[in-house]
Amino acid sequence: MGNDTVIGLEIHVQLLTKTKIFCNCSTDYFDQEPNSHTCPVCLGLPGSLPVLNKKAVDFAILTALALNCHINESNIFHRKNYFYPDLPKAYQISQFDRPLAENGFLEIRTEKSAESRNIRINRAHMEEDAGKLIHLERDGKTSSSLVDYNRSGIPLLEIVTEPDIQSSEEAIVFLQTLRSIVQYLGVCDGNLERGSMRCDANISIRNKENGELGTKTELKNMNSFRAIRQALDFEITRQRRLIEQGGKVLQETRRWDESSGKTVFMRSKEEALDYRYFPEPDLLPLFISQSWIESIENNIPELPDERKERFMKDYKLPHYDANRLVEVKPLGDYFERAAKNYNNYKQLANWILGELLCYLGQENIDIDKSPITPVALIELLELIDRGVISGKIAKNIFEEMFKTGQSAALLVEKSGSTQISNKEEIDDIIEKVVRDNCETVQDYISGKEKAIHFLVGQVMRYTKGRAQPDMVLSLLRERIDKT
Ligand code: ADP
Ligand code: ZN
Ligand code: MG
Repeated sequence: MGNDTVIGLEIHVQLLTKTKIFCNCSTDYFDQEPNSHTCPVCLGLPGSLPVLNKKAVDFAILTALALNCHINESNIFHRKNYFYPDLPKAYQISQFDRPLAENGFLEIRTEKSAESRNIRINRAHMEEDAGKLIHLERDGKTSSSLVDYNRSGIPLLEIVTEPDIQSSEEAIVFLQTLRSIVQYLGVCDGNLERGSMRCDANISIRNKENGELGTKTELKNMNSFRAIRQALDFEITRQRRLIEQGGKVLQETRRWDESSGKTVFMRSKEEALDYRYFPEPDLLPLFISQSWIESIENNIPELPDERKERFMKDYKLPHYDANRLVEVKPLGDYFERAAKNYNNYKQLANWILGELLCYLGQENIDIDKSPITPVALIELLELIDRGVISGKIAKNIFEEMFKTGQSAALLVEKSGSTQISNKEEIDDIIEKVVRDNCETVQDYISGKEKAIHFLVGQVMRYTKGRAQPDMVLSLLRERIDKT
């Protein structure tokens, strides 16, 4: 098989401006009354004129710079013409041959490969989003369609990669890396399910004999990482089989169908010609001065990669932990808030990446809504460090904290689960375990070192995990040596 898979991605990133790209309507449209965030401009009424939102350009430049792109000084907006009811003007204001940015790259590292790779960015251009169609069904067929223009005119940055991606895994890593960056930049919330980041994937199989690129298909309608991965894997297999059987891949757009787990034919590919692009006469050319670029460049915040390096250096975390903590910005923020007042960093990372993420995931709660705050978590960890409770008991306490929001100290006190550190308290139990397990004791005496661990386990069971295993071990040795 090898690397004969060729993938290029086109990603639409919704920019987090307060208002739309060409009018003053609010962009805060999610879950709002349909058509409540509209005006003559974004409804495309005759006589209305677009005015470019400077903040959208700032965000676009910022993102393009983070993707190592060259910013074009002279920008032109074009009309991309097509008829579809979600597009009120029957054209979309976009960019064509003079996009905002070109020739960038994004460095990615997959879990399997030791080396990182650069995926080249062909271009990044600005455009407006379209409205949304809602199809009503009767007897399994569309009976009528409604249109909601709240999304019409939301600013988008479309990022187009070169066909450099070699597997579905790399595609996912690319998207995760990109999502992480736009979140750190504060230009997009990166929510695939809600569609604030949308990805179309182009895919083909390279001819193994002559190395030539094959005919590509374009996949649409994937709104989660899982869907993207499944769609790509399905399509790779479909194309490979087709070629093996002597068939030909046709250039077409295919839709991912979640319910059947297949990509299905949508339409044959349209050409740029079909869109009759021409310069938008209602907007001036956009000139981006060097000083404008520099002012943005000087304000690029810390990005995930730099933060990862800093976590490894300042907190002495291993690469894996640092990488996972920084990928989602609020998770890294959570760690840093806790690390301000707590310096057993590795233990902190373990608890965040282990217990905390596990419980949050089960309940589908975002880290910034965690019922256990950073302060509450370090309170628990300090109880372990001081030997008040065992790590095992701490896990039970953690669960209670998560459920009730109560503090570790209070829950420990209530449950009476402080660790036994006083020798007399365990002596009786040791006595009982030694008497009840003569055979195991004999095994130990006759040289089977491992047998003693069974005895330690028994003591831990009777104390409900409240004894310190190290102390139990030495007390048991002492006791048996006496006989
Ligand atoms: P089109 O002219 O069909 O729009 P482009 O050359 O503009 O094609 O590329 C669109 C997207 O398709 C880009 O992301 C690009 O990387 C990708 N792409 C181009 N050729 C291939 C190919 N043979 N296989 C996979 N992806 C491709
Ligand atoms: Zn509007
Ligand atoms: Mg193209």
